[in-house]
Amino acid sequence: MEVVVGKLAGFCPGVENTVKRAKEILQEKGTVYCLGEIVHNGQVIQELEKIGMITVENIEEVPNNSSIIFRAHGEPEYKYEIAKQKNLEIFDLTCGKVTAIHKKVQREREESFIIILGKKKHPEVLGTKGFSGENSYIVESEDDILDAYIEYEKTELGRVYVVAQTTISSKYFDILAEEIEKNFIEAEVVIDKTICNATEIRQKETAEIAKKYNTMIIIGGKNSSNTKELAKIAEENCENVYLIETVDEIKNINFSNISGVGIMAGASTPRESINNVKIYIESL
Ligand code: SF4
Repeated sequence: MEVVVGKLAGFCPGVENTVKRAKEILQEKGTVYCLGEIVHNGQVIQELEKIGMITVENIEEVPNNSSIIFRAHGEPEYKYEIAKQKNLEIFDLTCGKVTAIHKKVQREREESFIIILGKKKHPEVLGTKGFSGENSYIVESEDDILDAYIEYEKTELGRVYVVAQTTISSKYFDILAEEIEKNFIEAEVVIDKTICNATEIRQKETAEIAKKYNTMIIIGGKNSSNTKELAKIAEENCENVYLIETVDEIKNINFSNISGVGIMAGASTPRESINNVKIYIESL
């Protein structure tokens, strides 16, 4: 059976850097708190927790004067303030591409109403919202555009600045951006497609592989937004799609009548998880 693994399967540059830096920091410090899951992948979290990382949901849980990691997704501006008040040593591992978005919205927030296209509860989106000021709105679907417009109308601003969660699909971004331009007709609308190119290229490669094979395995955390997006793209192009976290989840599947399998993995999936799946399928 032919098995093809996407060239871009697995850690994106931002996650690669976060995991590498986190290991170095833990080696140096011993115990370091991490605000939220460092990456959306259970195996990576377990590995880092074994060497001293403590994951907390709330910054208030972190003891004063200790060390804290801000993960690749980024945190809202006020969390930096709280960390300062608690005298925490911050290891800011926010991905450079996310930091660039924070800087853009900070620059724009006095003069523009900021719209963030993305999942309302996604940590990266909440981080960006936290840098966007009061005159901002998260648009997750077309249904939110009217509400965003109502909020915009309450302001004196004549300019709308649109950014996006780095991992949303390019196609979906274009649909929402077009709708915003239609609805905010009298405003100056600036569309800034801040989707990460690592995400975009991975999504394209997923579609290409899914078109060639009738079975596709997507590996990644079930709570990982970019992994779920890959599964959706695969489903649009391929009959059988399995979204899994570890190889154990495909051990009951009968692959005997399948001539080829495509494998792709989300941005937080370690190489080891991908290899385990490949080796297992090749052994059948
Ligand atoms: S997907 Fe892109 S923006 Fe997000 S962490 Fe990875 S490299 Fe950074």
